[in-house]
Amino acid sequence: MRNVCGISGGKDSSALAIYLRESVPDMEYFFCDTGAELPETYDYLNRLEVVLGKPIARLNPDKGFDHWFEVYRGTLPSPQMRWCTRQMKIKPLEDWLGDDEAVSYVAIRADEKNRKGYVSTKPNISAVFPFIEDDIDHDGVLRILDEAGLGLPDYYSWRTRSGCYFCFYQRKAEWVGLSERHPDLFEKAVAIENKLLVDAGDAGGADYSALGMRERQFTWSQGESLLELVGRKVEIKAKHEIAMERARARRKNIPLIEVLADALDEDDDSPACAVCAL
Ligand code: SF4
Repeated sequence: MRNVCGISGGKDSSALAIYLRESVPDMEYFFCDTGAELPETYDYLNRLEVVLGKPIARLNPDKGFDHWFEVYRGTLPSPQMRWCTRQMKIKPLEDWLGDDEAVSYVAIRADEKNRKGYVSTKPNISAVFPFIEDDIDHDGVLRILDEAGLGLPDYYSWRTRSGCYFCFYQRKAEWVGLSERHPDLFEKAVAIENKLLVDAGDAGGADYSALGMRERQFTWSQGESLLELVGRKVEIKAKHEIAMERARARRKNIPLIEVLADALDEDDDSPACAVCAL
């Protein structure tokens, strides 16, 4: 029986890894690396390895985003069609485990019991939820990270969800953050989108339902292209600042990360992918 703990590069899974390091000494840690994660995430993983005193296995898909993008005929992944998670995160994990019996430790917190984490459909992998069992909530997670001397990943100053730099779960203000912190990555996301927008012009409204696909997604962020979005940067930042003020006023003396999370949720509070952002 293998004990495995997936690290997403976010705070909850990192805290869980630390929380279990003594009680489950044979734990195998893994990180499903799409190759498109933020530099801050890779840096955080290196620091976490030092705290854990163990390596975190990097599981790479045998084929990257460009390949799957072709396979899905140039359809961007979206909450309705999350082929990226299946092909670039879940499949590498299931390949790594093979037919081994395994217990997967999932970092859903006690204060988010209704959230669903990745639970394999493969019969050899079962899931357990130690934070729910031990009643560890958001504050408990921050305390674990603090006491271990690890703290939060650096991207938490502008983005609250771990995952790919082009993740469609980003809120508008987070896309602006990406354009300012990592202009090179923002440009890459724009280049993917531009390919699609040009393509859409050529295709003249191809019937994708005839190809067995839902309507094709042409932009990363709902309702506008990234260039349009960044053109509205001043407006988006102003709105975000107001939301931050409102969040501060609503709950006094809360950590900055919660102010940021509340403010971003005003834009879109749909849950992020529970495989990629825990
Ligand atoms: S982080 Fe976002 S884009 Fe990347 S695999 Fe997960 S859902 Fe897809």
